[in-house]
Amino acid sequence: KAKERGGNTFQLFTESMGVKYEHALHLRNKMQTAIEADSFEVYFQPYVAANSNKIIGAEALARWPQADGSFISPAEFIAIAEQTGQIVPLSTLIMRKAFAQLAKIQHNSDFVMSVNLSVKQFQRENITQLVSSLATEFNVPLHRLQFELTESVMVDDAQQVFTELAELRTIGCQIAIDDFGTGFSSLAYLNKLPVDVLKIDREFTQSIYTDPASQTICKAIISMAHGLNKHIIVEGIETTEQADFFKRLGCMGLQGFLFYKPMPFEQLDNLLNPSDSKASVSSFPPEKE
Ligand code: C2E
Ligand code: MG
Ligand code: MG
Ligand code: MG
Repeated sequence: KAKERGGNTFQLFTESMGVKYEHALHLRNKMQTAIEADSFEVYFQPYVAANSNKIIGAEALARWPQADGSFISPAEFIAIAEQTGQIVPLSTLIMRKAFAQLAKIQHNSDFVMSVNLSVKQFQRENITQLVSSLATEFNVPLHRLQFELTESVMVDDAQQVFTELAELRTIGCQIAIDDFGTGFSSLAYLNKLPVDVLKIDREFTQSIYTDPASQTICKAIISMAHGLNKHIIVEGIETTEQADFFKRLGCMGLQGFLFYKPMPFEQLDNLLNPSDSKASVSSFPPEKE
């Protein structure tokens, strides 16, 4: 009987792998078409200064719209794009769109645009060269660009990535570690890493009032970051209680659905320039004196 079950389990395992493989293959081909047709879009999720709730920047997030109006989740297609290497051309597309929009944000001269990078890109191309040539093409100042990487950069052969990150910083860009706390990085690395910002993962943010260990971990991360002269941006804030907790701990930036969801550029632009919409609103109807 045990043997029978073992055999079944094995069969189920291979079947589900086959289905997954087929699905991944299908998505890969579909993605190739979408890259060539330039049908990827970028949404922007603002983040705010913890001490003023004012928007200080936004994160560019890839969106893949479908014919029926739905979107395929980045959690799904980014993973496949990283496996197939399609993340390299895809990232260039995303970067071009993000930079083109950033160039339109003229009045907020301190506004920062954050772009996610994949470790794959560091293995395949010279990121600093790509960034500086795109920044020149779209006329965006390098100091208004921030690049987010996950902790996996510290796990793999790190030296080349470190050098590249240091170069990006030398030309004026900021570096953030994304989803901080979820990886397996050695804390000893943090001191050597050329980074400016740690983004606390929403897994911690969202469990501070359900899991006491999360509070302890967040406090430790924040005090360590401050001791090493790095800023904190907290991801995934959904409640005012969560926001207050991190404000009290002196975090610099807050990001999450409580403040803003990812949005098309037009919406971000309206948020940053409320004067445009106010002007038209205040004339209809005319105010009484
Ligand atoms: P990420 O970089 O950690 O981005 C944050 C994700 O959390 C986004 O999901 C965002 O919509 C979501 N989020 C933000 N605030 C909240 C909140 O309060 N509650 C909840 N439940 N979720 C929140 P999204 O857009 O689905 O992206 C998922 C991941 O895909 C990103 O995680 C990033 O790792 C990757 N990704 C997205 N766009 C790109 C890209 O252009 N390049 C690369 N390399 N990766 C990307
Ligand atoms: Mg990110
Ligand atoms: Mg993140
Ligand atoms: Mg995250």
